[in-house]
Amino acid sequence: MSAPRPFAGQRIAVLGLGRAGLPAATRLAEWGAHVTAWDDGAAARDAASGAGLTVAVPRDFDALLISPGIPHRGPKAHAIALRAAEIGAPILADVELLWRGVRALGSKARFVGITGTNGKSTTTALLDHILRTAGRTVATGANLGPPAMAMPVLPDGGTYVLEISSYSAERLDRTRFDLAAFLNLSPDHLDRHGDMAGYAAAKATILRDAVAVIGMDDDRSRGVGAAHRGRVIPISGTNPQPGGVWAEGTLLRDDGGPIADLRDAPALPGAHNAQNAAAAAALALALDVPRATIAGAIRTYPGLPHRQERVATIGGVTFLNDSKATNADSAAVAMACHDRFVWIAGGVPKAGGIAPLAPLFPRIARALLIGEAAPAFAATLAAHGTPHEVVGTLDGAVAASLPAARATGAAVVLLSPACASFDQFSGFEARGEAFRSLVHHLHQTAEAA
Ligand code: ADP
Repeated sequence: MSAPRPFAGQRIAVLGLGRAGLPAATRLAEWGAHVTAWDDGAAARDAASGAGLTVAVPRDFDALLISPGIPHRGPKAHAIALRAAEIGAPILADVELLWRGVRALGSKARFVGITGTNGKSTTTALLDHILRTAGRTVATGANLGPPAMAMPVLPDGGTYVLEISSYSAERLDRTRFDLAAFLNLSPDHLDRHGDMAGYAAAKATILRDAVAVIGMDDDRSRGVGAAHRGRVIPISGTNPQPGGVWAEGTLLRDDGGPIADLRDAPALPGAHNAQNAAAAAALALALDVPRATIAGAIRTYPGLPHRQERVATIGGVTFLNDSKATNADSAAVAMACHDRFVWIAGGVPKAGGIAPLAPLFPRIARALLIGEAAPAFAATLAAHGTPHEVVGTLDGAVAASLPAARATGAAVVLLSPACASFDQFSGFEARGEAFRSLVHHLHQTAEAA
């Protein structure tokens, strides 16, 4: 029997041959498509040729897959995207191609999509953990983890858990999720989507025909829920939601009573995670996972790296890696979880700096400032009488942090930089990894002493 070829005869152009594009091009070719692959970088083109793909500037094609980072509209639209518009070829997300492939191969595996401005990765990873704990056949990926077209074809009864960015949401076409979560919506990526209405519309494409789990904690998401024509399961991190799942203080519950106490879930601190936990629990309940299994999995959820990740506790001082906090809003969420902490912050500042964090400054036992933002952050903190020190580098900050915690009685050292990392690191992951290894070294040294 020959291999199944769900894309036989289709001409598909793939632009951007990175983490997601290269496996997509390869899989499409395996699935029978005539693939023309292109990347503006020579190294990526060479890798694609080496993988046996046809590498050329695509001219005529039936559909175009482009990397999430490449704009297809506006002044910076890529020439190949403009060509797609000219010849009337749709621009599709890799998630769309996965869905089409899986369905064409006859699998009835369920598709769960998770989107929102914040909390997508946490909700996705938590649902994955719950389903695995329940013994389900699961494949989790897309924006988090393996790219869509590198995921396996699941049998009937399997479940895809897909984190959907707004970039990929706007490039969905026929994809119909069985279940979709829309967590929250705040201004973000407006450069790309034009305005909030465009951004909301882009994200709402994942809800079509799905049972929709909707975050009720902001007006815009409530509006998206009100406009949904199918079943809506409301969720909230703060307010009762009859028919849905919500947090009452630290207690996650639904109409049937308590599901889990989030105080027993060390990897889900703070009100923002109550919203994420409510969403994951609502999705799991809709997938018929027993309440007790959900409760157990919430307790054992290990957390994601770089999001308030507990690295070590040294002499009673806990070191948290929140390197993912690349702006003031995300840092605020982490800072609000702790009464008193030594704060490591700085890097490439975002517009507005840390002024919006002023209500949280009284919690800072001492700030240790790094990177380009250090002088400006120092000036803001000085204006509020908040103790701080410009240390310059992450090495210096980690070295100074333990004495600072001891001197001030703080039990937490929090790296939550409120900045991008590109002045000193290749990305937030590299910054978090550097922090982790510095703290582990400090731990060894402290134990040896
Ligand atoms: P995403 O994948 O949407 O970026 P993550 O789960 O990776 O979301 O969380 C990234 C950061 O966003 C966290 O470190 C936290 O600061 C913040 N965050 C997470 N969940 C929420 C939420 N539900 N509401 C607001 N902020 C959140």
